[in-house]
Amino acid sequence: MDYQTILEKVSKAVAPLTGEGKVADYIPALANVNPNKYAVCIDSIDGNLYAVGDADERFSLQSITKVFSLAMCLSIKGEELWTRVGKEPSGTAFNSLVQLEVEGMPRNPFINAGAIVLADVLLTSFPDPEARFLSFVRELCGSDTVDYNLEVAHSERETGYLNAAIVNLLKYHKKIERDVEEVLAFYFKMCSIEMNCKELARAFLAFANHCRFDYAGVSLTLSQVKRINSVMQTCGFYDEAGEFSYLVGLPGKSGVGGGIAALYPRRYSVAVWSPRLNSKGNSVMGMKTLELLTTETMESIF
Ligand code: GLU
Repeated sequence: MDYQTILEKVSKAVAPLTGEGKVADYIPALANVNPNKYAVCIDSIDGNLYAVGDADERFSLQSITKVFSLAMCLSIKGEELWTRVGKEPSGTAFNSLVQLEVEGMPRNPFINAGAIVLADVLLTSFPDPEARFLSFVRELCGSDTVDYNLEVAHSERETGYLNAAIVNLLKYHKKIERDVEEVLAFYFKMCSIEMNCKELARAFLAFANHCRFDYAGVSLTLSQVKRINSVMQTCGFYDEAGEFSYLVGLPGKSGVGGGIAALYPRRYSVAVWSPRLNSKGNSVMGMKTLELLTTETMESIF
């Protein structure tokens, strides 16, 4: 398949959407991003890389990092992890408190409440969780300069009132062991990791590649990788997971930095970045790019 030509065609087709949507500005440090940035990159199992646009420029991964923390937690806890966090789509916003109040347990690991529980699992599993998480992520994406962005993490802490409410509710329900401030700080730090589209595609190739998953001591069975993909499929796009599944037909995860990573099992991973978001928090051009990609290639899991 000539993915380079397809990516070029798709990126031209989405260009008219350039002004649509709004950059996430509830995290002050993210509001300064150039909203017109755009990149898409495919990394294929057979070793080829295809890229268009600003594919070497790093951006804030935000919720995309929840896939990495899920992988790490699953490798530590196995099936027992699902006693701490559910695996059902929430149908609510990523930062919603409503279900948590009624049900007492986060619906899935990709809403904030679920990812905050994952942060607690990592904090209680390692003496040096920040370093462990970073070395896992660096090995996954093949770059040892990928890092936390402390300015973004601190800026989110300044205004993260909803997440502070979530962590307190979790503590009230005895769903986290460590101190609320410590858990919140680590959660924000994980969200602040930056990558470019080439690095992000490489990181997600590990979830497309039905081979050994073993990175920086984090090892998963093929069955566990498959299950992470299924949680991405059903829960990866806030309350637009059904729409993404309908339009694109690939497992993936989005973040409010405007990135989306997705994968076509056994073939390729794809990363796209465009900071303007729709009302559900997903990148407008990113969603359209992936929709057109699977329309053009006729390749999806369905
Ligand atoms: N750090 C962000 C938050 O907790 C992540 C949101 C996202 O990318 O969905 O609000």
